[in-house]
Order: sequence, then structure tokens, then C-alpha cells
Amino acid sequence: MGKTNIFVLSGPSATGKGTICKKIKSEMPVKIAISMTTRKKRQGEEDGVHYHFVDKACFEDLIEKNGFVEYAKVFDNYYGTPMCEIEDARSTDVILEIDVQGGLQVMQKLKGSVGIFLLPPSMKALKQRMLKRGTEDSDSMKKRLSKAIDEISELVNYEYFIVNDDLEKATSELKSIISGMKSESQEELLQNKVTKEKANALIDKYKEEYDALSVDR
Ligand code: 5GP
Repeated sequence: MGKTNIFVLSGPSATGKGTICKKIKSEMPVKIAISMTTRKKRQGEEDGVHYHFVDKACFEDLIEKNGFVEYAKVFDNYYGTPMCEIEDARSTDVILEIDVQGGLQVMQKLKGSVGIFLLPPSMKALKQRMLKRGTEDSDSMKKRLSKAIDEISELVNYEYFIVNDDLEKATSELKSIISGMKSESQEELLQNKVTKEKANALIDKYKEEYDALSVDR
């Protein structure tokens, strides 16, 4: 098994990717890449900590200069991983917390990068989490729920999945995947391994749940 240092963590908005990344960073030596975005800063967010917040012209200038590992337009804003954020990957494990469009680009471009998909316990739980977070208006929430289903449909392209029904458990599974990728025996990772059968069953489950949410979503 080769040395794998780049881990792509994708999953629908509000699944808890940020919380898990924050927790794992306090428990093991990993770097969480800081993305660049043109979206507005939310209350409590800091430039250079949560994101590098820039305007559209600055983002497009960096695209011209081939300054991104990947970038995508998500909910009408640009998001991307600047090249400099993966420079340390030769010596440190780096987690890219990015959406599926970006995740697929990274997994194609950087051979050996490992895709991990974070799933909510259910679509209802995801909706409740968005409501609790209170950062989206109802229109934006509808868009995010619909995008969540599109993203989950790409699960089969990822190597591992984690269901975030308990923060401790989900973080511990992520830690096992990161350290397990470097060990000879990966038996303990089998429960989190994506197979075609598991992916299809999960996709069906979330689609049914999405349809069962109120008509207004
Ligand atoms: P939010 O606006 O909630 O912070 O993020 C919206 C979505 O953009 C999330 O799914 C998040 O993972 C994704 N995202 C954050 N940074 C990047 C990035 O650098 N590249 C891509 N492709 N997606 C990102």
C-alpha cells in the first residue's frame, strides 16, 4: 500500500463535515485545507480560519493562473482548494472538506487520494440540522436539500462512507480510515468500505426519505 496523504471528505451541506474536521484536528496530526470562497462570511466565521474570503475577480484571477487543485460553483458562489494548501501533503495528512463536484476532480487528478463520504442519519435529520443552524432562508434550504440528494447519488465514486449519527463514533471512524490506509491489514475498515450494493441501497433509502419530506421540503 502506497503512502496516502490526501483525504477528500465530501457530503451534503450541514452533514457535520466542519465539526468532524475540527474534532479530528484536535485528536491527531492532520491538516485541514482552507478553501477559498466568494460567498459572504457567516456570523462567527473568520477570514483565513474558516475560509479565505475573496471577491469574484480575485477568485477568477487565480483560476486563470491555475492556482486551484479544484474549484466548483456551489450555490451561486465559487469554492476552491488553492494549490498551496496541499503543498504539505508529502509530510502530513491533509483533509480536503469539499463538495462532490470538487471531490470527483481531486480523485481523478491526484492518484492515491482517498474519497470519504459523510452521510446524515436521514434526510429528515439533515433538514432539522439545517433549520437548527439557522443560516439558510427557506429557498436556500430547498436548494441544499435537493443538492444533497444529487450528491448522495455519487456515493459509489467514493471509497469509504461514514454515517454521522454520533459525533464521537463518526470521528473515530474517520481516524481509523486515515490511519488504516497506511497499515497492511485494512480489515477493520470493511464496515466503512463503499461497495456498489451498499451504495445503491443507501441511495434508495435517502431518495425515499427525500420524497417523504413535506411537499414544501
Ligand atoms: P458552506 O457554504 O456551507 O460553507 O459550504 C457549501 C459547500 O461547499 C459544502 O458542501 C462544502 O463542503 C463545499 N466546499 C467548501 N470548500 C470547498 C472547496 O474548496 N471546493 C469545493 N468544490 N467545495 C467546497
